[in-house]
Amino acid sequence: MERLHLHEKEEFINICREHGLNYSDRRLLVLEAFLERTEHLTVSDLKKHLQVRGHLLDGDFIAETLDLLCRYGYAYKKEFEGQEVQYEHRHIGWHHDHLICAECGRIQEFNKPEIEALQRRVALAHDFTLLHHNMELYGVCAQCRRRRREVVPLALVLPGEEVHIEKLVGGRQVQQRLADMGLTPGTKVEVVKARGPGPIIVAFRGSRIALGHGLSEKVLVSANSSPTKEVD
Ligand SMILES: [Zn+2]
Ligand SMILES: [Zn+2]
Ligand SMILES: [Zn+2]
Repeated sequence: MERLHLHEKEEFINICREHGLNYSDRRLLVLEAFLERTEHLTVSDLKKHLQVRGHLLDGDFIAETLDLLCRYGYAYKKEFEGQEVQYEHRHIGWHHDHLICAECGRIQEFNKPEIEALQRRVALAHDFTLLHHNMELYGVCAQCRRRRREVVPLALVLPGEEVHIEKLVGGRQVQQRLADMGLTPGTKVEVVKARGPGPIIVAFRGSRIALGHGLSEKVLVSANSSPTKEVD
C-alpha cells in the first residue's frame, strides 16, 4: 500500500480509538480494500473486491463503514445522475471535478485551475464565502461516440442532446401524425427527457411535445455530438 494510504489507515485507527467508535478488523478490511482501489466504487464493487480476497462481508456493513469514512473525511459519497451511489478517496489538498458519460457511466476526473479561479471570482463578486463545490459535466465519452450509429431512433437519444430529424418511418398514418405535430425531416429538436419510464419529451420552436415510446421509435434522428461543438 502506498505511503499516503498507510498513513491514512493509521490515522483512521487512531480516530476510531479516540472517538470510541466500533473499530474492528473487519472495518479495516473495508478501509484497506477501498484504499487499494483508485476509481469510484459502489458498495457492490467493493464487496466483490473483498470477496476475491477471501473476505465475505455484508453489503450493509460495507456501506456503513464507507459512510464512516466519509464522516471522518477519508471518502466522498457521490450520487451521479442515473448511477448507483459511489465512493471515492478524499485526499487532503487535492480537488478534482468530473466528466460523466450518460451512455456508459464512465467517469473521468479533471482539474482545471482556470475554472477553479473563475469560481472563486464569481463567489467574490457576490460577496460570498466559498466553501466547496461539485462540478459534474454530463455527456458522451469518446468510446461511446465512436460506437454510435449516425442515425438512430429518437428513443435512443440522451437527454440534453440536440438532434436533426432525418426521416420518419412506419405507416402513412403514423407519419402523418408526427408531421402534424411538426416533427418533419430537417427539424432540429432538443431532447428534454428520454429513456426510462414515461414519454419522451422534446422541445422545438419554444414548446414541448410528449411522445410515447412507440412513436419515438418512428422518428430517425442524427445527433451532432462532436466534442468541438461549442455550447453556451
Ligand atoms: Zn472544481
Ligand atoms: Zn461512454
Ligand atoms: Zn472523482
